[in-house]
Amino acid sequence: MLTKQDMVELLALRGKEQEELFARARRIREEVFGTHVVVRGVTEIGNACRVNCDFCPMRRDNTRENDTFLAGPDDLVDAARVVKDNGINVVFFQAGEIPQTTRVVGEALPRIRELYDDDVEVLLNLGNKKRGEYAYLREQGATSYILKHETSDPDLNLRMRHETLESRLRCLTDLIELGFKVGTGGIVGLPGQTLAHIADDIVMARELGTHMCSFSPFVPAPHTPLEHLEPGDVDTTLNALAVCRIVRPDWLIPAVSALAKNRKDGQRSGFLAGANVLTINFTHGRNADRYLIYGKERFVVRSDHAMRVLDSVGLVAGRSVFTGPTASTPRP
Ligand code: SF4
Repeated sequence: MLTKQDMVELLALRGKEQEELFARARRIREEVFGTHVVVRGVTEIGNACRVNCDFCPMRRDNTRENDTFLAGPDDLVDAARVVKDNGINVVFFQAGEIPQTTRVVGEALPRIRELYDDDVEVLLNLGNKKRGEYAYLREQGATSYILKHETSDPDLNLRMRHETLESRLRCLTDLIELGFKVGTGGIVGLPGQTLAHIADDIVMARELGTHMCSFSPFVPAPHTPLEHLEPGDVDTTLNALAVCRIVRPDWLIPAVSALAKNRKDGQRSGFLAGANVLTINFTHGRNADRYLIYGKERFVVRSDHAMRVLDSVGLVAGRSVFTGPTASTPRP
C-alpha cells in the first residue's frame, strides 16, 4: 500500500518517470475497466449558492450581480430525456448549494427512473445538506453523489471555503452510510498548498471509503478573490489522477474540463494518466452561460469533443457501473 511519502514522491515526478507512472496507471485501469469509460451527461440546474468559496465566481458575494436561475422538476425530466436520447445512462445534476434543490430534484427523481425503466444512475452534486435531505433524495431514487472536500487541510479549507472541513466530512460520511456511491476530490494549486496536502487528500478519500475521486487544477476565475493567482499545475494534477488509480484501481476518476481549460489537450492527458470518466455537458445555452463555475470563458465539453478525445486515446464510451446487471465495481 502506498504511504503518504510514496505519494509525495510520485506527485513530483516529471519526464520519463512521469510517463512510467502514467503507463502503470493505464495498465491498472485496463485490468479493471478494459477500454470502457463511464460517460455522464451533466445538466446545471441552478447557479445561486449560499457558500462563499474564494475560488468560485458563483460565490455568495457575487449572487446579486449574477443572473441567477433555478430549474424546476419538469426541466430536469426534459434534460434527462435529452441525455437518454444521446445513449447515456448517467444523469448528472449539479447546482450551487441552496436548500431548494432538494425538493426540485426529489420531485423529478421517480419520473426520471421511470423514463429509463430503472436502468439509470442519477448522480447529484448539490453541496452540503442535512442527513434527512440526503435520505430523502436516496429514497426518491438518487444513486450517487459528488461532494469534493477540495482540500484536506482544515486551515486551508476554512480559508478557501469559509466553512469547516468537519462539516464536509460529516456530509460525506452521511452519504456513504445512506448507501450512495460517493465521489470526493481536491483542487491542485490552492495558495499555500504543498504536495503533502495533496497526498493527504488522497489518503483521506481512501480512508473515507469513497467510490470516486477527482482532482482538478485551480482555475483563477474572474470576479473572485483569487483571480490574480497563477493557475494550478496540470502535471501535478495528472500525477494525482495516476496516484489515485494506483491507490484504488476501482475508483471512478474523471478527466475534468478544468484540465482542458488550463492546457490544450488537458482532458486527453487525463485519460493517458489513468482517468476513466468523461462528462458531457447538456445544459441549455442560456443557463450554461450563467453557470459561472470557472467564469464566462470556461471550457464546456460537448459530445463531438468528448468522442474525439476518447477516440484519440483508444477508449470507448461506456455506461454506468453503478446500475444494471454489472452494478458493482470490483474492490482491490
Ligand atoms: S464552489 Fe460550489 S459551494 Fe463553493 S461557492 Fe462555488 S458553487 Fe458554491
